[in-house]
Amino acid sequence: MKKKILILSTGGTIACSESENGLVPTATAEAFLAYLPDRMSNDFDISLLDLFQLDSSSVGPEHWAQIAEALRSRYDEFDGFLITHGTDTMAYTASALSFFLAGARKPIVITGAQLPADVPGSDGPANLKTAFQAFYTGFTGVMVAFCGQLIRGCRASKLRTHSFNAFESINVPALINFSSNDHGYQPPEPEPAPATAEELFGTEPFTVDSRVGLLKIYPGMPPQMITAMAQLGFRGLVIELFGIGNFPAEDTALMDALHALTDRDMVIVTKSQCTYEPSDSDIYAAGRQLAALRPISAKDMTTEACMTKLMWALAKSSNTEQVRQLFAQNIAGEISL
Ligand code: ASP
Repeated sequence: MKKKILILSTGGTIACSESENGLVPTATAEAFLAYLPDRMSNDFDISLLDLFQLDSSSVGPEHWAQIAEALRSRYDEFDGFLITHGTDTMAYTASALSFFLAGARKPIVITGAQLPADVPGSDGPANLKTAFQAFYTGFTGVMVAFCGQLIRGCRASKLRTHSFNAFESINVPALINFSSNDHGYQPPEPEPAPATAEELFGTEPFTVDSRVGLLKIYPGMPPQMITAMAQLGFRGLVIELFGIGNFPAEDTALMDALHALTDRDMVIVTKSQCTYEPSDSDIYAAGRQLAALRPISAKDMTTEACMTKLMWALAKSSNTEQVRQLFAQNIAGEISL
């Protein structure tokens, strides 16, 4: 029997056409079928679902929940899912779905393109093919398919604005690089018993608590930047530090502002501003002075994974200690512990 695949469209450049105001997403999922080679179209029984048509700059927590709900409610019916999505916030959506749908035993592949699919020379058709190739591999869970690579969803980051190789797998090898036939991981053994959506993901509505701030430290930053964060009512804060995890600790006004955060019941995550390799604030005195904040180290997580994981964890519990424990765990392969 043919495998059943559902294509969900959400907009992005892959679906764009020119308008007098610039590119706008207009194509529906049906348009993408034309780019699949006959072999792939024939191998699968493909259904279509148009969820929304947005530039992904406008895709946020409520859309993540909408996509996750669309997947959960059809999970038992299909063998695999392909989501077409804008590239700008694809890594956030991929990370959020990785946490919502952790433990998924079916492939959930997200792709998009740097150029509209119907423009000659677009990367869209190739990316759609890469996404479909995932359905032959045995890999499961949320993945990003881009420029010949399959990347674990919560490890993907957009690093280039217009080159076709826009995405990289951060701090772990890609699952597969189809262009070089490079296999970073072995596909997992198939799970013995198929599990239903309800068994895997429960029935609670998907939700995140978006009261999370992102603060990138820079030389000369005024302490008011930190004070403002404290006044915004955030429950969580991700602080991007210098190098391996250092803060301008000689600046007493900044340190005081930072220490004032400890009076709030806030979960603080520290990570490096560097894209590659893990952070560790314990090496330099300039990092260790943050210890009073009880920061949780993001280690080698991407910013996108940190932000969505913290939002997800905060929605799971009102108890800060429980949130801290949940955040520190490896949920979907986003962190090397
Ligand atoms: N602005 C577009 C979007 O994210 C960019 C793209 O899809 O490549 O929707």
